[in-house]
Amino acid sequence: MSISDNLKTLREQIPNYVELVAVSKTKQNEDILEAYNASQRIFGENKIQELAEKQEALPKDIEWHFIGHLQTNKVKYIAPFVSLIHAVDSFKLLQEIDKRAKQNNRTIDCLLQVKIAIEESKFGLSPDEIEEFLLLEATQKLTNIRIVGLMGMATNTLDEAQIKNEFNSLSLFFNKLKNSNPSFQILSMGMSGDFQLAMEQGSNMIRLGSSIFGARNYSTPSS
Ligand SMILES: *Cc1c(COP(=O)(O)O)cnc(C)c1O
Repeated sequence: MSISDNLKTLREQIPNYVELVAVSKTKQNEDILEAYNASQRIFGENKIQELAEKQEALPKDIEWHFIGHLQTNKVKYIAPFVSLIHAVDSFKLLQEIDKRAKQNNRTIDCLLQVKIAIEESKFGLSPDEIEEFLLLEATQKLTNIRIVGLMGMATNTLDEAQIKNEFNSLSLFFNKLKNSNPSFQILSMGMSGDFQLAMEQGSNMIRLGSSIFGARNYSTPSS
């Protein structure tokens, strides 16, 4: 199936209120353009240099999301154009995003990454840390960022009950925070292998790569 066929099939399974981020990491510009020509406008990347090069080369009405682990010293390269940063996991990073947004006369939307998977290696903050973080006066003083929701990744497992539990706990936490944080609108959870489960648990933004573009070839140099 072609990229545009894949998108068409996927869109039939995705309700209108769920935003689809096409994860184009490692993929060539021509593949991205094929999706673009099939009306896709939101794309997600996880390497700074790759994202900067693609943004330069591709249509300017693409909304670029940064979905990977972001290093503080690299924020400046994407601050002029990035439309959503999915995986903020420290106050230091949020401060840097605010500073660079200010320099570009912008407000940058951010999601806080919540650690929901039991795997130790995953990045993210615990729910307790996030609640403290949101209450900090220093966080509330940042004028050029908007925390618009949460992002999480389930454990990479075939155990559907476990994935469902992890998504469910993230969703409950999101709804709790939403009550006291009016800017909370986005719950980014679900990838190609688990987006159905994520949507059932209340996700309204899914990040799909391989189900749109096919499997990634990791031997391609990407950054
Ligand atoms: C690569 C990636 C995806 C997409 O993964 P697929 O399994 O190809 O859909 C989604 N989210 C993040 C954070 C990623 O790094």
